[in-house]
Amino acid sequence: MTETSAVSDSAQETEFPIPSGVYAEKVVSVEHYTDRLFKFRITRPAALRFRSGEFVMIGLPNAEKPVFRAYSVASPSWDEELEFYSIKVEDGPLTQHLQKIKPGDTVLMRKKPVGTLVNDALISGKTLYMISTGTGIAPFASLIREPETYEKFDKVVLTHTCRDVGELTYGHDIVAAAKADPLVGEEATKQLVHVGSTTRETSDRMGRITKQIEDGSLFEHLGLPPLNPETDRGMICGSMEMLKDVKALFEKAGMTEGANNRPAEFVVERAFVD
Ligand SMILES: Cc1cc2nc3c(=O)[nH]c(=O)nc-3n(C[C@H](O)[C@H](O)[C@H](O)COP(=O)(O)OP(=O)(O)OC[C@H]3O[C@@H](n4cnc5c(N)ncnc54)[C@H](O)[C@@H]3O)c2cc1C
Repeated sequence: MTETSAVSDSAQETEFPIPSGVYAEKVVSVEHYTDRLFKFRITRPAALRFRSGEFVMIGLPNAEKPVFRAYSVASPSWDEELEFYSIKVEDGPLTQHLQKIKPGDTVLMRKKPVGTLVNDALISGKTLYMISTGTGIAPFASLIREPETYEKFDKVVLTHTCRDVGELTYGHDIVAAAKADPLVGEEATKQLVHVGSTTRETSDRMGRITKQIEDGSLFEHLGLPPLNPETDRGMICGSMEMLKDVKALFEKAGMTEGANNRPAEFVVERAFVD
């Protein structure tokens, strides 16, 4: 074993003790999508309970005091493993190491899941709009495999906007997986619609989601009426700018923001902090 150092170049430096009060789980699989994006699955602690759409704090055992960062659980509450969808930030304190993990490595996880992108924070409705950019799709990967989502809403519209076409692949994969899922496949096939769009690379559907909502082209594409506070609900997850703009459009349509203790018509969560 090599000499220990506070910051290691490899994802693992197992000679550091596991901090108390955290789960130490094993990486089951890793899949790289682009040079900026990857997903990984880890074993699930038997005692962990969470609601689909919540996030946890994760880290690596590579320092005396490991760096922990918020991560949405991308798998549903009933799954035997935990999935995460991650950015790779060059020089990012966590992800410069996390992007190198391999099956069998250890990932640390704090014990308390939290978050507002949960079915409990919304009142029932007809159509649920899940609006995401970039890795903001992660909580929705969990919610589109959650049976309650299809019980509570007749139609589930998942929008995912990224700069380039390659960044939309994970969205296509999770929607295909939901439609093939033995538990929710039938409902997802009937009720789930996926709208991917790009803002930089040319694709079949281009433009910011705010513009698509504002000019009505999203609703035209879906064959649905404009936003209606009586029937429509929303969940937003992405950059601060996107959250602010979509929140303003939802409010303009007469929808109000909800929370765990005050369910309403839409909820919001940042996909990262700038
Ligand atoms: C509630 C919540 C949930 C989150 N869920 C996820 C998730 O599921 N997947 C995920 O990859 N990240 C998620 N994040 C971001 C995550 O916590 C870290 O910021 C990210 O893993 C990078 O960590 P880092 O230490 O390498 O760099 P950091 O020091 O955390 O970030 C450095 C810079 O990189 C940029 N950045 C960080 N994260 C992202 C991102 N996801 N997309 C685009 N730019 C980013 C920002 O400009 C940031 O200032 C979430 C953040 C919050 C607040």
